[in-house]
Amino acid sequence: MVFKFSLFVAQFLFKMKKIEHIGIAVKNIESSNHLFASLFGKKHYKTESVASEGVMTSFFECGPNKIELLQATSEDSPIAKFIEKKGEGIHHIAFAVDDIEAEIERLTKEGFKMIHEKPKKGADNKLIAFLHPKSTNGVLIELCQDIHD
Ligand code: ZN
Repeated sequence: MVFKFSLFVAQFLFKMKKIEHIGIAVKNIESSNHLFASLFGKKHYKTESVASEGVMTSFFECGPNKIELLQATSEDSPIAKFIEKKGEGIHHIAFAVDDIEAEIERLTKEGFKMIHEKPKKGADNKLIAFLHPKSTNGVLIELCQDIHD
């Protein structure tokens, strides 16, 4: 009974709410900003460097959805390695969560492997954590929670 109730509550508190954005790895963010501005008919609304990940990012809005472009800023950046292996293209899908630590705990218990077992500061005022693509059919999944100050 208690167990059923907590599952019932959990599905409202901890579930992934929606796709927050889709991340696309690019070689040259300047030229890709032009390309995606032509595609969407409007410019990116922000650029942001995330030093800890070795990336420069830019964000576009397309209706209710967001697209994040990512360019490596160092050779050992995960984006540099991704492009070397697979070329440019869709890099990750990010899901919005309310409580990232609770979600990491839930997913770890479910048997998913996390790249980040503790959330870290990402772009766009978010706490983020990535799941290992080996445990999600080769899809790199990011969890993100808004930082409220
Ligand atoms: Zn992302």
